[in-house]
Amino acid sequence: SPLIEVKHLKKYFNVPAGTNHAVDDVSFTIHKGETLGVVGESGCGKSTLGRTIIRLLEATDGQVLLEGKDITHVQGEALKKVREQVQIIFQDPYSSLNPRLDISRTIKEPLKRSGRFRSRAELMKETAELMDLVGIDERLREAYPHELDGGRRQRVGIARALALRPKFIVCDEPVSALDVSIQAQVLNLLMDLQDEMGMAYMFVTHDLSVVRHISDNICVMYLGQLVEKCSTQELFSNN
Ligand code: ADP
Ligand code: ADP
Repeated sequence: SPLIEVKHLKKYFNVPAGTNHAVDDVSFTIHKGETLGVVGESGCGKSTLGRTIIRLLEATDGQVLLEGKDITHVQGEALKKVREQVQIIFQDPYSSLNPRLDISRTIKEPLKRSGRFRSRAELMKETAELMDLVGIDERLREAYPHELDGGRRQRVGIARALALRPKFIVCDEPVSALDVSIQAQVLNLLMDLQDEMGMAYMFVTHDLSVVRHISDNICVMYLGQLVEKCSTQELFSNN
């Protein structure tokens, strides 16, 4: 069965002018290890869709299933459990990284909360391994987010997202704020990590060329709706 099933999902916002139908009856599935690209112009609802699926937002209507289990409105302990299994990587990790935590602590905090580690030594070992995995030099462990360049900052964001070994990660424009020369490095890192760890991605971007190489399938959004879904190969074939 699919890892993620999205069924007739709606997320509306009440705004002064009325109701914003940010996500309006969207359905699709994502399988283990798959990368689904979600493309569309700014404001079409990509971010809201990603955030609603992983329960940073709560749906107005419709359903989200994670491994067959309905997570659309779960609360409390059940929601906590969902948050260990799904993660998000933002466009600008600087806005989401705590400026007062050094890199080592940024990665250590979620590990600590997981309660999986019996000793400080184990926790430090896992932190070091995660830094290694995403290519952050150990010498930077005591640096603060503002001391890193954009590419390294995004690597820290990725390491934090990976800390709890999630099954699914929403990548929300993860390379759009980076120099073009760095974009390919971060995309390659994301692909290598997927090969190694097997999680699924929903890759949100306004830039079709970015998802071309990384996605198995692509959804095109327009005004809150999915207007096209096909394999990446189909989309880029010339017939
Ligand atoms: P995209 O990621 O494709 O740029 P968003 O999901 O950010 O699109 O936004 C979709 C629509 O929802 C936009 O019209 C946006 O203004 C609106 N929107 C997003 N978040 C909120 C919010 N918290 N309150 C009100 N409207 C919102
Ligand atoms: P803030 O309330 O500080 O603005 P954000 O919404 O920017 O918080 O999230 C901060 C970080 O916490 C994110 O980068 C993300 O990795 C993590 N996070 C928060 N909630 C969730 C969630 N439901 N699922 C996955 N990660 C989450």
